[in-house]
Amino acid sequence: MTIAPGLKGTFDGTCIVCFQPTDTGFAVKGEAEAAIAALLVMGVPEDQGVAVVSRALGCGAGTVPEGEVTVPLQVCSGCAAKLPHAQVGLVLPGGELPVYAQRW
Ligand SMILES: [Zn+2]
Repeated sequence: MTIAPGLKGTFDGTCIVCFQPTDTGFAVKGEAEAAIAALLVMGVPEDQGVAVVSRALGCGAGTVPEGEVTVPLQVCSGCAAKLPHAQVGLVLPGGELPVYAQRW
């Protein structure tokens, strides 16, 4: 998926799980709850996961859209390793992120 130009202003250059600087990430494709669940597996509390997904999708605080969405997440490879089958790619404007499809 193409992530520019929404990347600007959405990411601050750090892993959303451990807050270490990172330039990698992946996108979760599925219902918004899938992205929240993926964050939960990586160690992000559910309420924070909702906030992250809201922000990534440009929704109002604490709200997420219904139906299938693709949520770009900036995550370091160490945190992504907590999620089975997740692969990270470089987060670059106009670049593409590996898509993590819901598998549970
Ligand atoms: Zn991390």
